[in-house]
Amino acid sequence: MTLPRLEDLTGLGPGTRVLVRLDLNVPVKDGTVLDLTRAEAALPTLRWLMARGAVIGACSHLGKANGEPDPRYSLAPVAAALSRLLDAQVRFVDDCLDGPVEEALSLAPAGSVVLMENLRFHPGEKANDPGFANDLAAPFSHYVNDAFGTAHRAHASVEAAVALFEHGRRAAGRLMAAELEALGRVIHDPEQPFVAVVGGAKVSTKTGPLRSMVERARTVLIGGGMANTFLLAQGHEVGRSLVEEDMVPVAREVMELAKERGVDLVLPQDLLVTDSIDSPSRVETVSADEQVPELLAADIGPVTIERFKSVLAGARTVFWNGPMGVFEVERFARGTLAVAEGLAACPGFTVVGGGESVMAVHQAGVADRIDHVSTGGGASLKLVAGEHLPALAALEE
Ligand code: ADP
Ligand code: MG
Repeated sequence: MTLPRLEDLTGLGPGTRVLVRLDLNVPVKDGTVLDLTRAEAALPTLRWLMARGAVIGACSHLGKANGEPDPRYSLAPVAAALSRLLDAQVRFVDDCLDGPVEEALSLAPAGSVVLMENLRFHPGEKANDPGFANDLAAPFSHYVNDAFGTAHRAHASVEAAVALFEHGRRAAGRLMAAELEALGRVIHDPEQPFVAVVGGAKVSTKTGPLRSMVERARTVLIGGGMANTFLLAQGHEVGRSLVEEDMVPVAREVMELAKERGVDLVLPQDLLVTDSIDSPSRVETVSADEQVPELLAADIGPVTIERFKSVLAGARTVFWNGPMGVFEVERFARGTLAVAEGLAACPGFTVVGGGESVMAVHQAGVADRIDHVSTGGGASLKLVAGEHLPALAALEE
């Protein structure tokens, strides 16, 4: 998929009004931004447009806003944070439409940013409403989408509004381009051996990525809660472990596909099991085919950790999604942290995608030793699964 880039924009000059859709869905508490990662990720695109004198109307969603103004989900604190990060005043407008926006844009100097209030304060955003899209786009001649995290949603600011800008007047921003390049390298002709690590709680939320990885990788390492469903499909006892009986047919299908394609699908050989995640009194290592009826799996075991690490050491490409255990509890984090370190130590091209997996990479302190840490949880999984992403299709058309 080739998308228009910032360099492909035509007619850009001092005072050009550019609507820029960002993913500024940052955690905010009592008016303070707790984590600036997403705001920082938006800077390259903003700086590029500012350097060309654009008047930027930046927009985003935040939190669980649902069609009406809700002060808990205001973007006002993010405007202050962006001002500090850019070392330039970012003006805030308390709506994303009509008079207030027009006024703020007309007062904004060339090369500056106006941040508009949460798009989801209007029901038209999630509804992909053409009227809302039209009003949102009206003050602008150009459009840039840098909200990779929202690329899998057909919402007005990333879909309906895009068609209102002609070719040469719409483009993907820097972050979007970087995400597509890194994830594209994984799914299109990855350098072999390509090793995929898939974990997390459930098979049911990962059927697309699982199938896609078995189609592309040479080795697929499976851990986390979902491994139990595979073990059950092989006829093993899984005790009180998290398991999805209705996903057993999917697990079987994935294992058969792997066999047909000569892919090494590796399940845990041993597991760390416990009587309770929250207040464990028993924690034991057991063979994966001999789980204990009254215990549940909370992490992969030491033999599995060593095996996964040695496979990762020989990989030329790695994609990882999904923790190997309940890593939120320190005692059950070893497998997940070991995989994070395995990626960091791997000389090949390494990519991590997914909400909790990315958290684990930061927890392990190895984010800067991994080639690409995706900012888009759901979007990166859909892309890797080869699914249709409405925002990308809209930019491309
Ligand atoms: P991601 O967000 O990276 O895609 P998921 O949302 O699929 O990952 O899964 C993450 C969650 O899976 C974590 O909160 C973790 O606690 C849970 N998990 C991992 N292994 C197990 C397990 N054996 N039993 C229960 N939950 C697990
Ligand atoms: Mg998750």
